[in-house]
Amino acid sequence: MTIRLKLTLWYSTVVSLTLIAFSIIIYTFLSYSLAQEIDRDLAGRAVGVIRSIKVVEPGLLKPQKFVLPDVDVFGYPNTYLQVVDINGNLVAKSSNLFNDNLPLSRATLHQSKNGKSFYGWLELGNQRMRIYNYPLLAENRVVGLLQVGQPFSGVQAALTRLRWLLWFMSGLMILAAGTIGWWLARAALRPVEDISQTATSIRHHLDLQQRIAYQGPKDELGRLVETLNNMLDSLEIAYQKLAESHEAQRRFVADVSHELKTPLTTIRGNIDLIRRMGDQHPAIRQEAMDDIASEAERMSRLVLDMLVLARADAGLTLPLKPVALEKLVQQVGRQAKLLAQGLDFKISLAEDCRASMILADPDYVKQLILILVDNAFKYTMRPGSVELLVHCTPDGVQIQVKDTGIGIEPSELAQIFSRFYRSDQSRPVGGSGLGLAIAKWIAEQHQATILVNSRPGEGSTFTITFPKYLPN
Ligand code: ADP
Repeated sequence: MTIRLKLTLWYSTVVSLTLIAFSIIIYTFLSYSLAQEIDRDLAGRAVGVIRSIKVVEPGLLKPQKFVLPDVDVFGYPNTYLQVVDINGNLVAKSSNLFNDNLPLSRATLHQSKNGKSFYGWLELGNQRMRIYNYPLLAENRVVGLLQVGQPFSGVQAALTRLRWLLWFMSGLMILAAGTIGWWLARAALRPVEDISQTATSIRHHLDLQQRIAYQGPKDELGRLVETLNNMLDSLEIAYQKLAESHEAQRRFVADVSHELKTPLTTIRGNIDLIRRMGDQHPAIRQEAMDDIASEAERMSRLVLDMLVLARADAGLTLPLKPVALEKLVQQVGRQAKLLAQGLDFKISLAEDCRASMILADPDYVKQLILILVDNAFKYTMRPGSVELLVHCTPDGVQIQVKDTGIGIEPSELAQIFSRFYRSDQSRPVGGSGLGLAIAKWIAEQHQATILVNSRPGEGSTFTITFPKYLPN
């Protein structure tokens, strides 16, 4: 059974029960008050007649006698009066009874003998009559009975009509309640229908961009729709991230294969060359061996870089400890000088940084600085200069690598930190395109930021800012 049908049935049942209870109350109340009205009327008329009746006590030779008023004076077209003596013999009756008498049962006559008035029912012709029996007393003895009657059929007919009307109206209302309930349930459940249709459509078309359309108020269903739409937002973002990471993974594998293929092809080519000509041409052999050595070195560097990134992807977090800045910069400087190859290289550590500390993994921070310095050397033509500058600000420690090299096109700035990205200008220079991706990961591990400022043809400045070290 659908919720819609259940709601409609519940609604109709409640309305039906309310209507039936209401009808019963109206009917009972009305029939009771109409009967009461008739009873009061009958009693009122009886009292009027009684006041005018005189009972003459029997004498020695005289029988008991009723001196009756003209009962017609008290009769109305619809009110019948009849007086009988203690034996049930008719003494007087209203003229609207014509040839009929109000039938008198033994039980009624018997009951009247206890001197108390009472109501009863009787049939006259095909009419049901309400009768008020009023015993006539003389010296505390019941000497006769006054009966005042009114037909009840009119009231009964009205009540029957009312009953039919109530049945009919109740039926109509229940039908209307059912129809309205069915319609209301449909309107109330439409968002649920929309939710299920959207969910089905999402499942069929695998389209996480769809949302449930809802224009209604922010009630329970409104909130449900909002929650589901928010959930779809999150799912869409998560799915996009998953797709992006899948794509990145795919590109990474493709790039790695490509990057490894080139040196391997060179190595194989050189081995081939040595096999064919190495014995006769020692110079060619030496050259080929050098090539093999440099390609092997490039491969091992590439593999080491990929290892760092694979660790990063696996969620490796670096253990940080307070490190003396000056010592770290001196060590990096010594290694960097070896790479300068004829370029002017300067290191400057601001005076106020001499005693500074940073929270770091020293090996990785050295690697980070060396990546930037190495790039600066690689992409700076001779003559040119590279500077390693260290400043300390109230916010933290700033390490800058400044060069007078080829610079980076503004359109490429956003991409240089992506894995395997290399600009066209940098193609002639050796590199894997992984250096800055590793640098970015190391900086993130230290809550440090990396910013690039570069002008093509003029040079670049990479700035890493480490947060200030606050000893506990
Ligand atoms: P690689 O240097 O191995 O190509 P990186 O990830 O270190 O890879 O750098 C990515 C790209 O960013 C380089 O190919 C180069 O185009 C650009 N780049 C990085 N540093 C500099 C720099 N100091 N000057 C000019 N271009 C740079």
